[in-house]
Amino acid sequence: LCDKMHRPYFVLKYIPKFSWYFGKNVCIFFSFKLTDQQKEFQQLARKYAREEIIPAAAAYDRSGEYPVPIIKKAWELGLMNSHIPQEYGGMGLSSFDSCLITEELAYGCTGVQTAIEANSLGQMPVIIAGSDTQKRKYLGRMTEEPLMCAYCVTEPGAGSDVAGLRTRAVRMGDEYVVNGQKMWITNGGKANWYFLLARTNPDPKCPTSKAFTGFIVDADTPGIQIGRKEMNMGQRCSDTRGITFEDVRIPKENVLIAEGSGFKIAMGAFDNTRPPVAAGATGLAQRALDEATNYALERKTFGKVIAEHQAVSFLLAEMAMKVELARMAYQRSAWEVDQGRKNTYYASIAKAFAGDIANQVATDAVQIFGGNGFNSEYPVEKLMRDAKIYQIYEGTAQIQRLIIAREHLGRYKK
Ligand SMILES: Cc1cc2nc3c(=O)[nH]c(=O)nc-3n(C[C@H](O)[C@H](O)[C@H](O)COP(=O)(O)OP(=O)(O)OC[C@H]3O[C@@H](n4cnc5c(N)ncnc54)[C@H](O)[C@@H]3O)c2cc1C
Repeated sequence: LCDKMHRPYFVLKYIPKFSWYFGKNVCIFFSFKLTDQQKEFQQLARKYAREEIIPAAAAYDRSGEYPVPIIKKAWELGLMNSHIPQEYGGMGLSSFDSCLITEELAYGCTGVQTAIEANSLGQMPVIIAGSDTQKRKYLGRMTEEPLMCAYCVTEPGAGSDVAGLRTRAVRMGDEYVVNGQKMWITNGGKANWYFLLARTNPDPKCPTSKAFTGFIVDADTPGIQIGRKEMNMGQRCSDTRGITFEDVRIPKENVLIAEGSGFKIAMGAFDNTRPPVAAGATGLAQRALDEATNYALERKTFGKVIAEHQAVSFLLAEMAMKVELARMAYQRSAWEVDQGRKNTYYASIAKAFAGDIANQVATDAVQIFGGNGFNSEYPVEKLMRDAKIYQIYEGTAQIQRLIIAREHLGRYKK
């Protein structure tokens, strides 16, 4: 029996006596068992990753081409935009259920998964802060055809320090006129619309919480210039670009909530999107573990398979421990969202931990493959390259630690 923070509350023998009293604020039953429906989503995504994504992943990695057919089919199967509420045509899946799908897609290729996940990131400000009209217009169209969207916050001079961004939006009558430059925007060249964060209050003394405004911007608005596709170390089929806004006019109807509310919306989205990012990193780590284990059971040295050398089997054991714990971390952080509770602490723990272990496990997989691990004929060097970004985007590994420390210390100071 637990309280709201999931700290043990009573020993088991008191449950029958007191459970009626605490009502829905207590959890009497806890289970790691997935429901039949959750297993179905998971199986569908797993089958799709194994049959459609894995066979194509290496070629997309080499060419850097955007995986249009894979994304279209994922959309047709309902493996994209799963969290769009039912009233706007989506499936309205819980964060937990969406994360199960994300982990499976990432197992196939995290370049594909990031392209798909960037939709969730772009949509999340609209889901949490959009009006009914905005949701119907911009989320609704994504359930009618396989469109992409993007989250435009980072700039060449401001990534971790979001409050330092310089893109300006100036109110002129019923419109805002935007000038500025965004950088590293996933789906930047493929999006139908953007979530854009811009400064609306030029006064440097204005508190960050009131200085910025969040907008929805149609990608075909005059004045938007899309930069070249960036050639990244990993996740190479994902489309990352700089975007320039030059006298771009946005109708005031496209402001989310109100002028000055943007910073909170942009940061609030991360509580919902970091669990799936952690799920993606976990999927990559699981893939690395599977590849390394299968290889270790086949490759022989000194008269036995390398899995029988204790040094290798212990390495596999360490990798397995990390994958299991990363999965628990993302599931906990997603479950917190579904309970309607503030999950900032858990989301950052999951994102930081899964991002770190994805890198460690992928590196260890390369080690287990020996020389073959260093070669692109084998799958693990791609995993190692793909893993790195999980320690950078959606808040770096260092920024997650700042958040965890702040949340942790805040609890003690109260
Ligand atoms: C492939 C890719 C896709 C991306 N997709 C998107 C997207 O769709 N939308 C979007 O808006 N952005 C996106 N980003 C941007 C990404 O979120 C930023 O790159 C990230 O937040 C880091 O910002 P930065 O690159 O400016 O690094 P900086 O903020 O300059 O950080 C540099 C280093 O300093 C460390 N550091 C900074 N401040 C502190 C501090 N206070 N304490 C300790 N360490 C600190 C960082 O952890 C990092 O190691 C993407 C980036 C990449 C590479």
